[in-house]
Amino acid sequence: MDYSSIPEPVLSVLDSLRKHGHEGHIVGGCVRDLMLGREPKDWDVTTEAKPEEVLAIFPDSFYENDFGTVGVKVVPFQKEGRPDREHDVIEVTTYRTESAYSDRRRPDQVAFVSTLSEDLSRRDFTMNAIALEVGSEGKRDVTIIDPFHGRADIERKLIRTVGNPEQRFGEDALRMIRAIRFFAELHGGNTENGWKIDDSTLEAIRKHAGLLSHVSRERIRDEFSRIILSNSPADGVELLRTVGLLRDIVPELEEGVGVGQNLHHRLNVYEHNLLALRTCPSRKLEVRLAALFHDIGKPKTKRGDGYRSTFYNHDHVGARMTRNLLLRLRFPVAIIEKTVLLVDNHLFYYNVGEVTEASVRRLIRRVGLENMKDLIDVRIADRLGSEVPKAKPYKLRHLEYMVEKVSRDPVSVKMLAINGTDLMKELRMEPGPKIGAVLEVLLSDVIEDPSRNMRETLLARAESLSHDDLPALREKAKEVIEEKREYDDEGIRSRHKVG
Ligand code: ATP
Ligand code: MG
Repeated sequence: MDYSSIPEPVLSVLDSLRKHGHEGHIVGGCVRDLMLGREPKDWDVTTEAKPEEVLAIFPDSFYENDFGTVGVKVVPFQKEGRPDREHDVIEVTTYRTESAYSDRRRPDQVAFVSTLSEDLSRRDFTMNAIALEVGSEGKRDVTIIDPFHGRADIERKLIRTVGNPEQRFGEDALRMIRAIRFFAELHGGNTENGWKIDDSTLEAIRKHAGLLSHVSRERIRDEFSRIILSNSPADGVELLRTVGLLRDIVPELEEGVGVGQNLHHRLNVYEHNLLALRTCPSRKLEVRLAALFHDIGKPKTKRGDGYRSTFYNHDHVGARMTRNLLLRLRFPVAIIEKTVLLVDNHLFYYNVGEVTEASVRRLIRRVGLENMKDLIDVRIADRLGSEVPKAKPYKLRHLEYMVEKVSRDPVSVKMLAINGTDLMKELRMEPGPKIGAVLEVLLSDVIEDPSRNMRETLLARAESLSHDDLPALREKAKEVIEEKREYDDEGIRSRHKVG
């Protein structure tokens, strides 16, 4: 393990605590990530000092939450995140237990404790219950404090609760989803790489899955979202189902288990939704959710049996179901609206040659230009989820081309630095067709030399034109403009690889 990657600001927080006579350890997810050779997302420090004492030591610090966590602002040091941020935050948490879970929702109160080992014992998994002690400046030696053998579990790739799993899930049922979240993040789409949930931990999850109904929807949402955003979201969702947790989170998905589709599909509805999530080309939460839920309305709308079955209206029924389930899980409005829009429109019709520019404009108006790429990603997931050979056939590339074509401004006299009114005012030209002719000639000039698109230059040129043979010049200009439009169109076509 490479301890030299512990950032300077983290070390200096530890030094300040020490200078004031306190303990300070690096703890939690960042230690696990260091041992895995991954860059930690955030750095947590734990100490016996009370929150008030921590606030007093660090002038630029604030209460992070109600549980006595203090955020210390330090100079930006993390590679990820917004490049323009003014500071990063190191969380300093007082040793504590969360012993009383009378409603199985969240700790009634946090009780501060005096030793590090008590603090480590309240943590969820062995790999998250390791602390590092770093020597003071000049001698930065690192001691690993690992009473629950988390390091050995990391080496064995094992997710295992600290202490008795049944008791730990009884205290806080959210930990069951967390186990699966860590599984989905760590095994990273590669079932061969060996990460698994320890047998007795998994057994306890199966046994106590029903306890999840006591956990607040917001906490479930946060862990569920992290599963969806992980590198193997589909394996995470499938594991949620097989251990019995999914029925409490999204029972609607389970309705598709065993529901056959028709001629065109080998997979049942649930398997198809899951494969669409697995193959979804986007990393966005809304797009992945839409891939997972896109056919969630199929079981309810199924008519007939065997390969003649139909699912009329499943897109709109599915959109309504998606809205309800996301509301139930307390997702933010913006995420709900976007996901519902994508599910609602996932059947959009597009056939090259058959669909006009006007209908592409209508689709863009209905969905929003900013959502077109995401909608196409959902369609790609849908296709890959149906095991069709080509994810992005000519048809979808052609749609992308059409979207760009109808949504960009074509070459026109509107691009000029002057307009008809200027000609009338400055050159005293009469209103009439001559104005249009002059502007078109000016546009062809500008196409050939964009530096001419300046007010004075254009006015001077316009003035000289009134003496020339305008109709002939206009004919030539029209050709130049048409050529330029074709050239631009060629560019968009080749960008989207449509001939
Ligand atoms: P990540 O780096 O992905 O955020 P993390 O391990 O930091 O993972 P957090 O949810 O940020 O996960 O929690 C920080 C630490 O707090 C964990 O490593 C764990 O030690 C402890 N912890 C968090 N939630 C619980 C819980 N429900 N029960 C017990 N300990 C928990
Ligand atoms: Mg964390």
